[in-house]
Amino acid sequence: MEEVERADYNAVVERIRQHEFPMLQGTTYLDHAGTTLYPRSLIERFSTDMVSNLYGNPHSASNASQLTARRIEDARLQLLKLFSADPGCFDVVFVANATAGIKLVTDAFRDHEGGFWYGYHRDSHTSLIGVRESASHHQCFLSDSEVDEWVGEDVGDAATVGLFAYPAQSNMNGRRLPLAWPQRVRQHKRGVVYTLLDAAALVSTSPLDLSNVDCAPDFTVLSLYKVFGFPDLGALIVRKASAGVFDRRRYFGGGTVEMVVCLKEQWHAKKSETLHERLEDGTLPIHSIVALDIAIKVHQELFGSLEAVSKHTTALAARLYDGLASLQHSNGVYVCQTYKDSASTYGDSRTQGPVVAFNLRSASGGWVSNAEVEKLAAVKNFQLRTGGLCNPGGVASSLGLAPWEMRENFSAGQRCGNDNDVIRGKPTGMVRLSLGAMSTLKDVTSFVQFVQEFFVQDAAREPTTPVTSLPMEPPTSSHLHVESLSVYPIKSCAAFRVPPGKAWEVRAEGLAWDREWCLVHQGTGAALSQKRYSKLALIRPSIDLDEGVLRVKLAGSLCGTTSRREIAVPLSADPRMFSNEDEFKEADARVCGDAIRAKTYKSEDISNFFTHALGVACHLARFPAVGTGPSSNTSARHSKPQLWKPWRQDGIRVPGAFPDTVPLAPGNGVSTPLLLSNESPILTISRSSLNRLNELIKAGGGKAAQAEVFRANIVVAQNLDYPPGAEEPYAEDDWRRLQIGQQYFEMLGPCRRCQMICIDQQTAERNQEPFVTLSKSRRVDGRVYFGQHTSHVPSGLATTLLAQHPTITVGDAVVPFLEDEVNQDLQ
Ligand SMILES: *Cc1c(COP(=O)(O)O)cnc(C)c1O
Repeated sequence: MEEVERADYNAVVERIRQHEFPMLQGTTYLDHAGTTLYPRSLIERFSTDMVSNLYGNPHSASNASQLTARRIEDARLQLLKLFSADPGCFDVVFVANATAGIKLVTDAFRDHEGGFWYGYHRDSHTSLIGVRESASHHQCFLSDSEVDEWVGEDVGDAATVGLFAYPAQSNMNGRRLPLAWPQRVRQHKRGVVYTLLDAAALVSTSPLDLSNVDCAPDFTVLSLYKVFGFPDLGALIVRKASAGVFDRRRYFGGGTVEMVVCLKEQWHAKKSETLHERLEDGTLPIHSIVALDIAIKVHQELFGSLEAVSKHTTALAARLYDGLASLQHSNGVYVCQTYKDSASTYGDSRTQGPVVAFNLRSASGGWVSNAEVEKLAAVKNFQLRTGGLCNPGGVASSLGLAPWEMRENFSAGQRCGNDNDVIRGKPTGMVRLSLGAMSTLKDVTSFVQFVQEFFVQDAAREPTTPVTSLPMEPPTSSHLHVESLSVYPIKSCAAFRVPPGKAWEVRAEGLAWDREWCLVHQGTGAALSQKRYSKLALIRPSIDLDEGVLRVKLAGSLCGTTSRREIAVPLSADPRMFSNEDEFKEADARVCGDAIRAKTYKSEDISNFFTHALGVACHLARFPAVGTGPSSNTSARHSKPQLWKPWRQDGIRVPGAFPDTVPLAPGNGVSTPLLLSNESPILTISRSSLNRLNELIKAGGGKAAQAEVFRANIVVAQNLDYPPGAEEPYAEDDWRRLQIGQQYFEMLGPCRRCQMICIDQQTAERNQEPFVTLSKSRRVDGRVYFGQHTSHVPSGLATTLLAQHPTITVGDAVVPFLEDEVNQDLQ
């Protein structure tokens, strides 16, 4: 592409996108810092090259070997040229990724006698920080001025060698750091301290100029897939004048030595001709390197130069930043807390790359959970990154997290990428958007619109005001009944509807046969979930009490995936059916991150049935009977609910101050003793609430949601003779206990929702609804609720049949008790 005016450039990129990036259809990709996308021409040219040429391992004189050697040398040269690096002064070492390049440098320093000193900038990527564990002394520079001060100090003939490392661009907020430091380090500490520049983030959208060898870093690492999307390859660019450091590296691998003597004498001669020959251990990733050569050419043909990419992305990032930073709630509170460095300016490519990191605030000033942002973004097909972003120093300083807080958060269960992301009123991570060469203005505006639509609160139509009171007359007669009962025999698979008229047993751990089984991945032992494997919805289990079997059929697109039409598994847990413990450790299985004790079926027939149906290697597993193991058995089969009741708070809540309410465990303030602690075996939803939700969805032109998507066990509905129009949507928010037929249940709190409710349980297709509408109408502090966790309250008198075999039936009358009534009970 020739020099084009910026406005036109966006149009040009739009056109390139149509043809070259079909994978972007229907999605807004905002994670170029994670991986850039590869263009169609690159893949097509690469595949043509692969099928028309014979590439051998470049260690012989054959034509195939020589061709490979030639192509690799070409690629090395092309890469150096891309950064204006003189091949006389620099060498390229191919590595798996930027991290492997960092480790190669680390190896050489670690093998120095007396070890080495290591200094790194606070903004470093995790992979740079890890180097400190090999160093004899290390120091983290907390600011640029600390570095500036240090680089200016002369060192004499220091005894230990040193390495100073920093990122050219922060992978957290895209801030670009000064490139003048290597030269100054060399001026003041020549031969003592070397410099390692991590350019992995920078070069994906910016040129890097190594034309002045005196100013260049000694070592520069790159992630090439972040520039071209493909191949998955990294590079270490070494300034030849500094290559002596590698003489200390002790390890040698195949390809890096001329001769090795290893029987009675131990001796080897390293290759000496070029640096890369000494450092590239083992067989090179030949085909990836050939692909790199093509990638460089295609990138230049499509986008012109890295300068052009830089201009385009810099302008877009400024729009994105301004768009987000200016959003305000109707009460004036700013919606986005951005984490721009004070030294950087959006629009200035020397100080800022095309990355925006931020957190969202609610109108009352609390933090919106990133897990919720991620769920909504996933539904709306935005690809972005959240969490700690592999940049612990930058994230901690931006979020004001002290080391003790990070440790304490860690002990409290906070890990990169889980739901617990607002602790003690502070976010533990952030959202990152990053742009690339093929980003367009539309990507930017649609994301700003998305935040506007879902996160900007208008006081006038504040949707989350709690329903505070209901008619006070005690419920003398019931106007509610059980519309349906469902169990999910295999976790995350389809529901089994309890037939009308059938009295269904309520056990301590929930409705009988609910989540009795699960499917576990053969490799990881993790329980499969619809979040990742939406086709689980098409696995249709049913409980056949007459035959005493669990029957499993396949529906929709799973039909015909295996030769068996259905399988049947005995309901009785015959120990001979399960694998030996030592073959597959029970404790390996995990549900929602918690280790569970499930036993896997050893029958190949059973495993093959599920494996073929889903296209993922899995086993059927069963939870052991209650009472035969530690009490954690029962809690493990349900994902742990987060029990707090946002609608029950008096006064003003500080949103996001998690956990800001005392979890209401069953038994709290309830006279009946409960067997179970802190878990929710049953999920109850209300038909009125679902109707209200569906009215809103239909008003917005969406497709109404079926009750099944909420994976409820009990659906409670108004009686038909109750006056129509007198429905009470979300009345369940205020229920404290329920009587269903002859049984009592306690309401534990609202159920927090994720995008899993968007999977159509008939077809396994993903939709946007009902999550989108629910997010707008039932969100409190960034968390979306629908349905209520419920647990059975066993009767104190175990002598009656009702207590020994508690059951409920479709059609049973339902009587809710409100908070006040429960308190009166107790007095
Ligand atoms: C991505 C990245 C890395 C790690 O690169 P890998 O290729 O995954 O090893 C290191 N530093 C920065 C700044 C990055 O953006």
